[in-house]
Amino acid sequence: MHYYPPPCLWIVIPCYNEESVLPLTAPLFLSEIESLASSGIISSDSRICLVDDGSTDCTWRIISGLVESSSQFVGVALSRNYGHQNALLCGLMEAKSNCDIAISIDCDGQDDIHAIRKMIALFEEGSEIVYGVRSARTTDTWFKRMSAEMFYRAMNKLGANVIFNHADYRLLSKKALNELSKFDERNLFLRGLIPLIGLPSSTVDYERTERIAGKSHYPLKKMLHLAADGITSLSTKPIHFISIVGILFGCIGILGLIWTFVTFILGNSVTGWTSTLSAIFMLGGLQLLSLGIIGEYVGKLYLESKKRPRYIVKERKGELGNE
Ligand code: UDP
Ligand code: MG
Repeated sequence: MHYYPPPCLWIVIPCYNEESVLPLTAPLFLSEIESLASSGIISSDSRICLVDDGSTDCTWRIISGLVESSSQFVGVALSRNYGHQNALLCGLMEAKSNCDIAISIDCDGQDDIHAIRKMIALFEEGSEIVYGVRSARTTDTWFKRMSAEMFYRAMNKLGANVIFNHADYRLLSKKALNELSKFDERNLFLRGLIPLIGLPSSTVDYERTERIAGKSHYPLKKMLHLAADGITSLSTKPIHFISIVGILFGCIGILGLIWTFVTFILGNSVTGWTSTLSAIFMLGGLQLLSLGIIGEYVGKLYLESKKRPRYIVKERKGELGNE
C-alpha cells in the first residue's frame, strides 16, 4: 500500500567541518532521493536539508554550491557551533512545516542510505517513528564498539530508555515532529527524547560502515559528555542513588560508633590510624562525588531556566518544496 499522494521527504543532515566528506556523500543522497522520487515512493519536491553547524572550514561554501547546482538541496547555516544534537533539531524543525516525513542521517556516509527505502515502507505501514538500528559494527574499532555498548547499557540502567545501537538515523513523521517541537528543553538528547513521544514505532536494521573521509567528532571525552548529558537530562535516578548510598554510609557510621563504644568499655586500646584516615578520605570523596552529581542537575536547571535559544540560524539557502 502506498501513501497517496507520495509523501514529501526531507533528509536532514547536520554537518560540522565536513569539507572532506560532503562532496563525496552529497551526490549519493541526491541520487537516492531522485531514484525514490522517480519510482513514486516520495514526492518530487522532497529535499535534502544540510545544516552547517558553524563549521570553520569550507563546508558552507560547499553547501551553497550544492544548493545552486540542484533545487533538491536546502542549506541552513547556524551562527556558531551548537553541537550535533542542536544542529539536528534545527534541521528537523526546518523540515517540520515543509515535509510529511523527515529522516535524519549523518553526512559521513556511515549510515547506509538504502535503509531509507525500508524506513519509508514502514512509515506507510503505519509507523510514525522508524529507528535505524546498527546490526553490525565490524568497521568500528574494538574500543568504539565496547564504549558504545557500555554507553547504551549504562543509559538504560540509569533510567534513560534508549534503543540499543540506535544513533540519530531515524524517520519521523510530521506528527512526530510536531510532538517533538513541544519538548522545550535546552539539554538535548534526542535519542532519549524520541522514545518518550510514544507514537507507533518500528526499527530497521542496517550495517554501519566506515566514515568515507574526515574524522569522527566524537572522541571518548565527548562520548562521556553525551552519556552524562543523556542520563542527567532524562533521569533522576543518580540523585536517588546518592540518597541510598548516604543512608547506607550513615548506618555503617552508627555501627562503627557502637563498635568503638564497646571496645572502649572492654578496655581495648584504639589502634589503626590508617584505617581511620582512609575512612575519612573515602567519605570525603563520596561526598564530593555526590555534590558533583547534584551540581550537575542544578547546572542543568540553571541553563534550562535561562531559556536561551537552542540554535540561531544565520542564513538559509534554497527553495522550499511546497511554496
Ligand atoms: N556534527 C555536528 N556538530 C558537531 C559535531 C558533529 O553537526 O558539533 C555532525 C557531523 O558533521 C556528522 C554528525 O554530526 O554529520 C555525526 O558526527 P560524527 O560522524 O563525527 O560522529 P560519529 O559518527 O563518529 O559518532
Ligand atoms: Mg560518523
